Amino acid sequence: MTEKKKAVIYARYSSDNQREESIDAQVRAIEDYAKKNNIEILKTYADRAKSATSDKRPQFQQMIKDSALGIFDIVIVHKLDRFSRDKYDSVSYKRKLKANGIRLISVTENLDGSPESVILESVIEGMAEYYSKNLAREVMKGMKENALQCKHLGGLPPLGYDVDANKNYVTNEAEAEIVRKIFDMYINGYGYSEIIDYCNNKGYKTKMGNSFGKNSIYSILDNEKYSGVYVFNKSSKKDAFGRRNSHSSKDESEMIKKDGGMPAIITKEVFQKAKEMMAVRKKAPGANKAKEMYLLTGLIYCGHCGSAMQGNRRKPKDKPKYVSYRCGCRVQKRGCDNKEIRKEYVEEFVLTELEKNILNDKAVPILVEKINKHIEEQSKHEKESTETMIRELNEVRKQIDNIVVAITNGFYQSEFKAKMEELEERKSRLELSIKEIEVKNNIPSITEEQVKNMFAMFKGYVLERNIPECKKFIQSYVHKVIVYKDRVEVIFNVAFNFLQEKDVVSIRASARKKTLFKICRNIA
Ligand SMILES: [Zn+2]
Repeated sequence: MTEKKKAVIYARYSSDNQREESIDAQVRAIEDYAKKNNIEILKTYADRAKSATSDKRPQFQQMIKDSALGIFDIVIVHKLDRFSRDKYDSVSYKRKLKANGIRLISVTENLDGSPESVILESVIEGMAEYYSKNLAREVMKGMKENALQCKHLGGLPPLGYDVDANKNYVTNEAEAEIVRKIFDMYINGYGYSEIIDYCNNKGYKTKMGNSFGKNSIYSILDNEKYSGVYVFNKSSKKDAFGRRNSHSSKDESEMIKKDGGMPAIITKEVFQKAKEMMAVRKKAPGANKAKEMYLLTGLIYCGHCGSAMQGNRRKPKDKPKYVSYRCGCRVQKRGCDNKEIRKEYVEEFVLTELEKNILNDKAVPILVEKINKHIEEQSKHEKESTETMIRELNEVRKQIDNIVVAITNGFYQSEFKAKMEELEERKSRLELSIKEIEVKNNIPSITEEQVKNMFAMFKGYVLERNIPECKKFIQSYVHKVIVYKDRVEVIFNVAFNFLQEKDVVSIRASARKKTLFKICRNIA
């Protein structure tokens, strides 16, 4: 008899999304699955998030940490989007698990880890991302309405302000004093650490009730609201992979700014002065040192000793820069004599082969069929949960009506106000969740053309050698790149097993190191 596989459960629940299965329901489904598949569950990690957008997941982080201990072989989730709703995150965490020899299983999505499911998975993830972007757009619409009236849009107001019953900002005098002091110290030349010390010695707390740190001071000095300007949508947008692009400033048209839209705590002059000083101090030496983007990080290994290879950049004086991958063993001075390999040579080789071997149209029909089957199953599931939510929404509406009628008839009770607020909040949450599902279900089946377009887009990035874009999808297709002393080999995930009768083979391509520079020259 084979030994039982050991697994842990990861479950997540965000209270602002009511159509989600509760943690208990997720765990039950996973335990069922484990029983059927002869898997032993060792532990359950569960995060209850206040909001789906805030991604602090202490238990998740703990699980990733524990995955290095070698105690379990499998992480089981109920649905893939419990693991992550963001492709970039998902790929990098999955890599971490994989590096520790651990498999991720989704109970409802039935992905088995075969190369084709790896690709299917990446497409599903891409779609989840599309959904959440759509949802964000819907939410944004509602928020904009409120923003135009300079209302507080949820969360904690900044230090120095409270929010009244109509969601308008009002000054909190005691806190405003702290804010003024911070600006005052800064424009008089005090550094962050002096300001932090001052505040903490005085026993001041941030709005969250914490001690002050560099970030909290910075976000105060950077907040235009203190000068009486209501600002909405100030932080720059996240890109499709969830990273904030902090360099591009927000498109002015998407930003709502109203001078005098909220009570001022400091003058415009003080804010301006602080802003200028921050800009000057930021320009510290070395700040603009160029960073390289390494396409193959996490994928490239030394064929001589098996270590992972790492990106390395040198810039000798008076010589052009030299960027390479080197054996991790060598970096730690533990005697592997495999030579480093020029970054552009090996990346060029991988991209050329990727285009030739994987991004072709033969795979498309099979992929499309699989995706559509998946969509169908999902939407059946969604439909059921919408029905429940609509029933609940009607109930909430009825209760609201009842209170209104009671008040109109002169039966006013002080509890009504709190009850009403609670009902209104539930109502808008439900409406939002229903809307989310509508958006999701509005997506028709995927067509071959769409997938072809997706591949064509990838191909375009490959041909342009757009490394940042390529990096986003390459991990779905490239299994491993191995650098031997004399040659380089790349192993791709085979999209589909139509190539052979049964077993899934991986496509390998290899080239002698000495010839690699020629590939580069051909392209150039
Ligand atoms: Zn090595």
